[in-house]
Amino acid sequence: MKVLKFGGTSLGNAARMQDVARIIESEKDCIVVCSAMAGVTDCLVELSGTWKADDIKKAEIIKKQLFSHFEATCFGLMQGAAAFESSHSIIFDQFHKIDRMLSGSWSEGKEKCLLAQGEIITTLIFDHYLNHSGIAFKWLNAFDFMQKNAEAEPVVADISNKLSNLPAYTGSGRYLTQGYICLDHNGHPDNLARGGGDYSATLIGAAVNATVIEIWTDIDGLHNSDPRVVSNTSPVRELSFGEAAELAYFGAKILHPSCVWPASAQSIPINLRNTMEPLSAGTLIRKGPSNAGIRAVAAKDGISVIRIRSARMLNAYGFLKRIFEIFENFRTPIDVITTSEVAVSLTIDKTLHLEAICNALHELGDVEAETGQSIVCVVGDVLAEHQGYAVKIMDALRHLQVKMVSFGGSRNNLTLVVPMGQKAEALNCLQKALFTNEPHACQQAFNN
Ligand code: ADP
Ligand code: ASP
Ligand code: MG
Repeated sequence: MKVLKFGGTSLGNAARMQDVARIIESEKDCIVVCSAMAGVTDCLVELSGTWKADDIKKAEIIKKQLFSHFEATCFGLMQGAAAFESSHSIIFDQFHKIDRMLSGSWSEGKEKCLLAQGEIITTLIFDHYLNHSGIAFKWLNAFDFMQKNAEAEPVVADISNKLSNLPAYTGSGRYLTQGYICLDHNGHPDNLARGGGDYSATLIGAAVNATVIEIWTDIDGLHNSDPRVVSNTSPVRELSFGEAAELAYFGAKILHPSCVWPASAQSIPINLRNTMEPLSAGTLIRKGPSNAGIRAVAAKDGISVIRIRSARMLNAYGFLKRIFEIFENFRTPIDVITTSEVAVSLTIDKTLHLEAICNALHELGDVEAETGQSIVCVVGDVLAEHQGYAVKIMDALRHLQVKMVSFGGSRNNLTLVVPMGQKAEALNCLQKALFTNEPHACQQAFNN
C-alpha cells in the first residue's frame, strides 16, 4: 500500500486536479490524502472570524467568493451539463450545511466543523471528477478513522484499528480521503493544525505500514533554505529522518512540524514530489546516517525568549527541574535552551500562557521575556569540526544580533535566535556562506 498526499496548490484549480488524476490513475493499492484547495482554509478561517464577530454582511461576501471558487472548479472539470449539475449539487448541499452552522452562535467546536469543510468539499468534488472520468477510487471519511486520544494526540495504533474495522476498507485497492481533519477524544470534529495534511498522510502511512509516503506539492523537494526568502536555493535530494524532522520542526513549511515521526518510527520512506514536474525525483527522506556536511537551513518566526536569572541556581541541583515543571504545567513546549551558572534562556513558540509562565517563574528568580524573535536552524553534520562549520556560521552572522546559540545538542543541528526583522538577512548570509563560495559577501553588503 502506498500513501500519496496532495496539498492545496496541487488541487488549486480544475487543471491541477486533472494533473493529479493523471498522476494517480496508474496506481493500484493506495490511499490518496487530499488537502483543501489552496486558499480555502484561509477563507474559512476568515469566515469564522466574521461569524464570531457577528459580521453577517462580510460573512455573506466570503461565502459567495468561496462558492464561486468551487463552482468554477466544477465547471472546469466537468464536461456536459448533467455532469456539471451533479457536481454543483454537491457544493450546494455542503453550503446548506455551512448556512445552518452559521445561523447558530459561534464556538471553538463549531469553528472546527466549519474549517473541515475545505477538505470535505475539495475531496467530494475531486471524487466526483474521478468517478466521472472512470478512475474508480473508494471514498473514506477521515472522521471514521482519524481520532485524537485524551492527550489530544493522534495515535497510529488507534488509527490502524479503526481503519481495519471499516467495512469500506479492505487493505487493497484505491482509496481517497481527507487530510487535516480528525475527531477529538470525545468524537467531535477537530483538526491536526494548519498544514496538517502532511501529518495525516504520515499517520495513515504508518497505520497501514505503507511502502512509501509520497507528499506531492508545488516545489521539487525540500530546498536548502526557504525559497520564499532566499532566491538561489536548490533541492536536497536525500535527507535522513532526523534531519527532515529537525527542518520540519524548525520551520521548513513544506513539511508539517510533526509529520516525520510516524514514518521514521516505522522506517517508511517519505518522498517529496512536485505535481508540476512529476518526473523530477524530489527529495527522499529515509533511515540512514546523516550525510556529511550541512544539508539545509530553516527558520521559524513568532518565537519568544524567556530569561531566568537567579543566584540560587549557583551550585544548586533541582533548579532546572522546577523551571521545566512550570512549562509542563502550562503544556508549553520549550524549543531551544542555553544555560550559564546563574541564568537560563529558553524559547517557546506557543505564547498563550506566556504571562502566566513568567509569573510562575518569578518565584525562582528575575524573569525577562522578549517576543518577536526567529529561530534559525542549520541542519546537517555541523559537528564535522574539521570543516569548521560552527565558525563559518557564526562568522556569516557576525553583524547580526544573535540572541542565543545552541550547539552540540545533537550531531545534526546548530540553532540560533535572531530578531524576526533580521531573519531574511540571516538566511541569505547563511546561504552564501554555506552553499556558495562567497564568504563575507553579505557582511560587506551590510557594511556598505
Ligand atoms: P502544500 O499546499 O502542498 O501543503 P505548502 O505551501 O504547505 O504546500 O508547502 C510548500 C511550500 O513550502 C513551497 O511552495 C515553499 O514556498 C515553502 N517552503 C518553505 N521552506 C521550504 C524548503 N526548505 N523547501 C521547499 N519548500 C519550502
Ligand atoms: N487545509 C489545511 C491548511 O490549509 C491543511 C493542509 O493544507 O495541510 O492548513
Ligand atoms: Mg503544507
